[in-house]
Amino acid sequence: MKKSDTQRSGAKRRGGEEAKLDTSFFASSPPRVPTPPWVIGVDLGGTKIAAGLVSPHNEIVKKVYVQTGVSEGPAAAVERIAGCVEQLREALPVGEQVAAIGVCCPGPLDHVAGLLLDPPNLTGWINVPLQRMLEERLGLPAPIEHDAKAAALGEFHFGAGHEVNNMIFVVVGTGVGAAIIINGELYRGPTNSAGEVGHITVDMHGPPCSCGSNGCAEVYMAGPDLGQRFREVVGPELNLPEEIDGRYVAQLAAQGQPQALQVFAQAGQALGIVIATMAHLFDIDFYIIGGSVVQAGDLLLGPTREAVRYRAFESIGSRVKVVASPLGDDAAILGCAWIARARGDGETKRRGREE
Ligand SMILES: [Zn+2]
Repeated sequence: MKKSDTQRSGAKRRGGEEAKLDTSFFASSPPRVPTPPWVIGVDLGGTKIAAGLVSPHNEIVKKVYVQTGVSEGPAAAVERIAGCVEQLREALPVGEQVAAIGVCCPGPLDHVAGLLLDPPNLTGWINVPLQRMLEERLGLPAPIEHDAKAAALGEFHFGAGHEVNNMIFVVVGTGVGAAIIINGELYRGPTNSAGEVGHITVDMHGPPCSCGSNGCAEVYMAGPDLGQRFREVVGPELNLPEEIDGRYVAQLAAQGQPQALQVFAQAGQALGIVIATMAHLFDIDFYIIGGSVVQAGDLLLGPTREAVRYRAFESIGSRVKVVASPLGDDAAILGCAWIARARGDGETKRRGREE
């Protein structure tokens, strides 16, 4: 597919003397086939927006951040994203242009209609036609996707998953969820709800969960819940700050504080149960863990791997690999860039790269 001519009115068109194709990307060989275009990936979160300009070789060449300002509403956020796009365009090589932007957001959303439904992390943004708003404002294709799925696509195409066809990306952050890739395609389920693994029950007598059930995996490993579990373990005798989260507990665990280690051991076990369950269900053996809590590294993943070996059939569990997301926050931006190319006005090669 040819590079896009989609652009804002008034922007320079390709062609003509000053818009010659920049051949520096092709080493010594001249371009013989159209290259994937420059695109922008935008990770719209509950607190901040991270946007990155992504080159035809899938490198993030510039990143910008702004506050989301959820309370100011979606129209204001669209303006902020437009501001990010303007800043990122400054880093384009002469004659190049942005072909599309891909945007990921907290769900639930309808990626086909480009509609945010009622995302709990974007309070008040009900039935927002985000894709249409962005496309009208920017004059560019702007497909949207669920944030965990975008990050999974980023890892699948450009990160730890680039050599596998089947993998599951698990986000352990403010909440817990997963994106499942089977034979190179996202498995969504009939209503796009597949992957809510944070609400797999790991203890039928466990603590209450925000979903109305109890003993869900999430209550043992999501960031805010780690703080709550730690508070329960230490009891009233230790003078704890009013608000404690996973980061706080991780710092104590890293110093060897026994109750903090206990909380992370429990979190790792819960994650291990979730992974063993998915391994039994899908026969998928590769798991990439993203989200803020995985910054605790082996404090979380050590007990996770142990639990997988204990909980899963030997023939399955022995094959399971659990790794921390190597791309971190960039996974979502790169995944959005891939989506921009695949669903926007760009190339659609499965791997989104040259070979
Ligand atoms: Zn739950």
